[in-house]
Amino acid sequence: MQVRITVSFPYEAPVSQSLFERASAVTPGGVNSPVRAFRAVGGTPRFMVSGTGPYLTDADGREYVDLVCSWGPMILGHSHPEVIAAVQEAVARGTSFGTPGEGEVELAEQIVDRIDPVEQVRLVSSGTEATMSAIRLARGYTGRPKVVKFAGCYHGHVDALLAAAGSGVATFGLPDTPGVTGAQAGDTIVLPYNDLEAVRAAFAAHPGEIACVITEASPGNMGVVPPLPGFNQGLKDICSDNGALYISDEVMTGFRVSKSGWYGIDGVRPDLMTFGKVMGGGFPAAAFGGRADVMAHLAPAGPVYQAGTLSGNPIATAAGVAQLRLLDDAAYDKVDAVSAEVRSLVTDALTKAGVAHRVQVAGNMFSVFFTGADVTNYDEAKAQESFRFTAFFHSMLAQGVYLPPSAFESWFVSTAHDTQAVERIAAALPAAARAAAEATE
Ligand code: PLP
Repeated sequence: MQVRITVSFPYEAPVSQSLFERASAVTPGGVNSPVRAFRAVGGTPRFMVSGTGPYLTDADGREYVDLVCSWGPMILGHSHPEVIAAVQEAVARGTSFGTPGEGEVELAEQIVDRIDPVEQVRLVSSGTEATMSAIRLARGYTGRPKVVKFAGCYHGHVDALLAAAGSGVATFGLPDTPGVTGAQAGDTIVLPYNDLEAVRAAFAAHPGEIACVITEASPGNMGVVPPLPGFNQGLKDICSDNGALYISDEVMTGFRVSKSGWYGIDGVRPDLMTFGKVMGGGFPAAAFGGRADVMAHLAPAGPVYQAGTLSGNPIATAAGVAQLRLLDDAAYDKVDAVSAEVRSLVTDALTKAGVAHRVQVAGNMFSVFFTGADVTNYDEAKAQESFRFTAFFHSMLAQGVYLPPSAFESWFVSTAHDTQAVERIAAALPAAARAAAEATE
């Protein structure tokens, strides 16, 4: 088997270690987003210095096949020449104007063209802003206070949406993190995922009070747990019957699992949708949009306030427009094919090593659960033997394959994952599967 580089992978990472020490002195936990810190798997987070195609290179000069793709955005691989050229062209004209610009119109048009239920869209800078704003709009539009979310679904660090995840029964959310008050979380109802009866019961218990149901279009934040057949349509119907809005959070799935995201797969029409990640081409760009009559309530057209100094930033929109232009049917076919190949390699390796597992898939997103049973909700996800993932992760890392450093995250591939990259993954898997088999709690 041909291996792209022949250097061995000593496990120590002295330069990353020293950067991590410097970082920890000036930044809480040494990172700017918690999951990067390797807390779930232990060890030193790798500080990356460059990315090309399917590869990342760390500060110690080691190269990894990247199966995180910046948590989704890098669907064309790193440093795609056409995206880089678009960014260079844009940056030469200035970095922020604080006025409208054509790039914002182009990106909005691309989103509206691709996703039928989105008649109007507002650009923001992060997925968190998108979901926060969509919920404010839903409350403003309906004049109702309560929000339904599902245990195990992550919608960014919006106060109201950090309400307790993991609850097995319909319950009022309690603050999940210090700093979120009971008042901020008190209008959030957390329900078990894939349970329409619980949703019906919540609407029956709170008539005329629920503004919206927000759900990940297909969850990737408890590992990949797709909606059971009819679940999203059921949510939409219950919302319509009760005068509430159905908000589909496509920050992760949008423009990743198909040209029009999860909507392109299940065809259920949300009232509002949220986007991020892929649409920014690796820059901070996100959006929320949907029915024109609902979006008309947003300032300055309507009374619901929402704003952003860097919203529609010209560099971010140039990167997003360039990336979306390149994402044609052939690109999605390629990502789907790579995903299928990697999934089958993982399944083979874990089966050969005798490790109980489920590889769950949603379009080209997938994740591995170390359990012998299908996973349909957060409680089932948490029941997996995640200590096996830890051993698996570190073996892959030591062999030059960068996986998400948590058992509860989706893996991501790109159009740039070519035969050589897949061969490197294949070469690393048997030892990682054995490590998972031998792991003890
Ligand atoms: N919604 C979903 C489904 C996400 O996966 C994420 C981030 O992972 C967010 C919202 C928040 O996006 P951001 O990290 O850009 O704030």
